[in-house]
Amino acid sequence: MNEYRQLPAVDQLLSDLVIQAAIQQYGYGLTREACRDVLAARRAAITAQGGPRDTSITGEVLELLLSWTRTSPRAVINATGVILHTNLGRAPLSAAAVAAAGAAAGYCDLELDLETGSRGRRGGTCEHQVCLLTGAEDALIVNNNAASVLLILTALARRRRVIISRSQLVEIGGGFRIPEVMNLSGARLVEIGTTNKTHLKDYQEALSEPAALVLRVHPSNFRIEGFTAQVPLADIVTMAHQAGALVVDDLGSGLLSARGAGGMEDEPRPRESIDAGADLICFSGDKLVGGPQAGIIAGKKDLVEKLRRHPLARALRIDKINLAALSATFSAHLRSAADVELPVWRMISAKTDELESRVVAWQKALGFGIIKPSQATIGGGSLPGETLSSWCLEVSQPNLSGFARRLRNGRQSVVGRLEKGRLVLDARSVLPEQDEELIQAVREAVAT
Ligand SMILES: *Cc1c(COP(=O)(O)O)cnc(C)c1O
Repeated sequence: MNEYRQLPAVDQLLSDLVIQAAIQQYGYGLTREACRDVLAARRAAITAQGGPRDTSITGEVLELLLSWTRTSPRAVINATGVILHTNLGRAPLSAAAVAAAGAAAGYCDLELDLETGSRGRRGGTCEHQVCLLTGAEDALIVNNNAASVLLILTALARRRRVIISRSQLVEIGGGFRIPEVMNLSGARLVEIGTTNKTHLKDYQEALSEPAALVLRVHPSNFRIEGFTAQVPLADIVTMAHQAGALVVDDLGSGLLSARGAGGMEDEPRPRESIDAGADLICFSGDKLVGGPQAGIIAGKKDLVEKLRRHPLARALRIDKINLAALSATFSAHLRSAADVELPVWRMISAKTDELESRVVAWQKALGFGIIKPSQATIGGGSLPGETLSSWCLEVSQPNLSGFARRLRNGRQSVVGRLEKGRLVLDARSVLPEQDEELIQAVREAVAT
C-alpha cells in the first residue's frame, strides 16, 4: 500500500518543472495523457510486484511523448543480406523515384491533361510505360498485387469457375492466400492436378465445363523439386481459348530487366507471358520491379477496360505519390538504366569483389570484426533457394542481443543478421553511399 502512496497524483506530476517544459513542447492534453499512462504502468508494476524501477517517472513521461510523436516508419540501413526484405519495406526507391514522389506530393497533373486543360486519366503515362515494357495492349495500376488478383477475379470470374493447379495454391508473406482471395471475389475455385504434377489433360478435363478463366500463379516463395510437371503457358492458353476461357498469369515479381542475375533463368518475365498469349498478367511494383508498392495489371484492351470501369477499381486505386515513384522506376527500366539507378538492381548486380573491398574498408575503419564470405538472398518471394555470393563483417560483442538492439535503435538504425552468436553485417543489401553511416552507427552502438 505504501508503495502506491509514493506515486505522485497526476496534478502533482503536471506541476513538475520538467513536465511543465514538456507541456510547452507537446501541449497540455498529450502530456497529461502520458503522465496518466506512466503512473498507471507504475501502479500495475507494484500490483504485479515487479521490483523498483531505476528510471525516473518524468524521464518515462518524456520518453513516452517522444515515442508517440516520432514519425514512422524510420529509415533503416539493411545489412541483413536480404535485398527485398518485406519487414523492411521491400524495394528501396531510386533517387529519381523519391524526387518524383516528392514533386507529386503537392498539386500535380494527376487527373488533368495540361495540354488541353481538360480531365485526364490517372496513371495514363505509367500505363503506357507498362505497355512499352511488356508488349501488352493496355495496363492498369492498382494499390498492390493482391489488389490486382482481387480485382481481376471479382470483375471477370464472380460466381464462375476458376481453374488453378494445386501446386499454385500459395500463401505469400503477410497472409495473402490464393484460395481466400478467390473466396472473397466470389469466384469458384477448381483445383486440378496434384501438389507436384499437373498435366495438360487435367486442364482439359476441368475445361470440359464452362469456366471464366484459368489462373496461373507463380509459386514465388517456394520451390517444388524432383518429380514435377507443369504445363507451359502457351499450351494452357491454346486449350483455354478453345474452351472460351481466359488465361490470367499472376507473375508475382515481374522481372523486367533484360539481363537478370544468376539463378533468374526460371523467373518468368511479363513480356514472355504476354507473348505466350496470356489475356492478363499481374505483378508487384515493389519486388523485382524495384519501385513502390503497387499492383500492375496488363493485357488485352477490352479486359483492362472492364477492370478500369469496375467499382472495386476505385477502392483499389494507387495514390499519386506511389504512382509518381512507379513511373520514375519504369522510366529507368525503359532506358535500360535499372542496374545503375534502381537500388534493388544495383545490389543484385554489384560485383562480389567490390563487396569484399567495402567490407575490408568497414573493418579497417572500425578496427574490429571478422571479414567473411556470405550468402545473400533476393527475398520478397523471389527466387527461393537462390543465393547471391556476398561478403560480410562478423561482429562479436559481450552482450550481443543488447548490441544488436542498440544498433537497431541508434541515431541511424542498422539491422543486421544474428547468426551463431554473432552479428553479421552483409554488404550486398547496403549501398556504397551508406557505408559511412553504417560505420558510424556501429561505432556508436559499441560505445554506448
Ligand atoms: C507477392 C505476390 C503477391 C502479392 O503481391 P503484393 O504486391 O505484396 O500485394 C501476389 N501473387 C504473387 C504470385 C506474389 O508473389
